[in-house]
Amino acid sequence: MVSSRYIGRLAPSPTGLLHLGHARTFWVAAQRARAVHGTLLLRSDDLDAVRFRLDFVDAMLEDLRWLGLTWQEPMVAQSARRPLYRAALERLHAAGQIFPCARSRRDVLDAASAPHEGGADDEPVYPPSFRPPAGATLPPLGENISVNWRFHVPDGEEIAFTDGRAGPQRAVAGRDFGDFLVWRKDDTPSYQLACAVDDAAMGITEVVRGDDLIRSTFRQLLLLRALGAEPPAYYHCPLMLDEHGTRLAKRHDALSLRALRERGVTPEEIRRKFFSADDAEMRGSL
Ligand code: GLU
Repeated sequence: MVSSRYIGRLAPSPTGLLHLGHARTFWVAAQRARAVHGTLLLRSDDLDAVRFRLDFVDAMLEDLRWLGLTWQEPMVAQSARRPLYRAALERLHAAGQIFPCARSRRDVLDAASAPHEGGADDEPVYPPSFRPPAGATLPPLGENISVNWRFHVPDGEEIAFTDGRAGPQRAVAGRDFGDFLVWRKDDTPSYQLACAVDDAAMGITEVVRGDDLIRSTFRQLLLLRALGAEPPAYYHCPLMLDEHGTRLAKRHDALSLRALRERGVTPEEIRRKFFSADDAEMRGSL
């Protein structure tokens, strides 16, 4: 049982319309917070300047409310928290835990020895030979960043955590995942850094999200440790699959909450049909 100072969060990205899969994860997050009379916060992961759209923020708020979710206002927008991420980056820099990387994604892909599994948050394992030589002086970050910065992972260290839903998880740094991006050359923080910084700064005690992000958790655990922050507990929900066994994505517009609502489907029907079963697959269609 999680204590009554439970603080959870919903962290949608306003880059498309929310669909049934998001809705179910958020519903689980809300239920877990409610069960212990905890607090639920809403964070808009709006750092992706290319795919971000303001109308998706409005749609997301409206859809979440329509579904019956409530959270403690005000919403936290990552785009307004840049100084916090920059301070974390400076701390990692001062500790010598990051390095600048001029290699392209293509270079890394070509050099990566093992084929990587693929997936939303996935990066090929960064080849250690691309790191700056040991003992090399770290260049300053500079005011405006125009090069990628990566976190230097502790090769061979096993990172483990027990997921509240998926059970024990482990990955070996340098083998299962490599040096990952913390800041991009377009001067924006990476998802991994922003998420770890926010989960710590917002006092999140349990992260509930889709299990496609389990692989990100190992990286975020390393960042939290490097930043001297206590990690939250994690609860990763299985992704919802369509009738072909494919995970729902933003392109499944017919299953967006908006489209369902327009077809006259009620939140009660959605909850009854999709949120009660423990099974990740969709049974039939609405
Ligand atoms: N914003 C991320 C997404 O929509 C989720 C981040 C998280 O829960 O850590 O995939």
